[in-house]
Amino acid sequence: MKEMTPLKKRKIHAGVRAGIQLMFFILMPSAFTTAFAGVKYIFVQLGNREPIEFNAFIKVLSVLLVYTAVFGRFFCGYACAFGSLGDAVRALYMSICKKMKKKPVAINETMNKLFIYVKYLVLLMIVFVSYKGMATSTKGMSPWDVFSMLRAGNIEMGAYIIGTVLLVLILIGMAICERFFCRFLCPMGAVFTLIPSIPYLSLRRTRTNCINGCSACKRVCPCNIELSDVSSIEISGECIQCGKCRGICPKQNVKRTLVPQNFELCFTIIRAAILVAILIWAGL
Ligand code: SF4
Ligand code: SF4
Ligand code: SF4
Repeated sequence: MKEMTPLKKRKIHAGVRAGIQLMFFILMPSAFTTAFAGVKYIFVQLGNREPIEFNAFIKVLSVLLVYTAVFGRFFCGYACAFGSLGDAVRALYMSICKKMKKKPVAINETMNKLFIYVKYLVLLMIVFVSYKGMATSTKGMSPWDVFSMLRAGNIEMGAYIIGTVLLVLILIGMAICERFFCRFLCPMGAVFTLIPSIPYLSLRRTRTNCINGCSACKRVCPCNIELSDVSSIEISGECIQCGKCRGICPKQNVKRTLVPQNFELCFTIIRAAILVAILIWAGL
């Protein structure tokens, strides 16, 4: 049988990913807010000197953290509704630029390196506000809440002016920079980056096999990651497991140690199925 071309494989993988993203967007749009509500709940309880119960928020947060420790940030790459919204906005912007024959705006490398730490500040601020019991005074400021309300068809934004303005700014950021919110601002993303994951299930490369001067995998990466070598067990916490680096490599040099190359599509579907199962178990 004739082997599929790399371009066709890439298109199939992109189609499967878009299908999985759409499924999670429709069926489980609140997974990321529920998980982050778990983070806030922990600090509210600590601030109030009250016990932390294993409630619905903590359950979703726990299963997502354990899942991320095993499979990396597959949730971010395939299942988070806000991440998927960012991908859709970016795709729209790129297609408009292509139609108008305009060069897309790009963020330079130095800004990339600096902004990446902002999400930890956002996380710290939210943790502080939760711990001090000031969460109610920030009501109406969350762009996530506005997004959730819009998704639920609620367009009465009276008390959510700040959140709405922030959401519009974030959407502009998402258009001009792939995964802008995830890379620079998302407090849940900051939590995920701190979770170490099993390196043998993540994508790495054999550096000695690389083409001289090639950086295609880094350029296509939405998180601007330089892939680790197979000899290293360090995996970037920023990696959202999208698989774009694997698809673009002209030498098929980007692999998972424990997953055969021709099993990659099945592995994607298995990870999605496990994620659906555990989120349903957690009550979503
Ligand atoms: S970084 Fe945040 S917004 Fe982005 S995909 Fe992950 S949880 Fe969702
Ligand atoms: S695209 Fe492939 S060959 Fe090029 S740097 Fe990345 S892993 Fe190496
Ligand atoms: S392109 Fe590769 S390294 Fe970058 S986020 Fe996607 S899977 Fe991770």
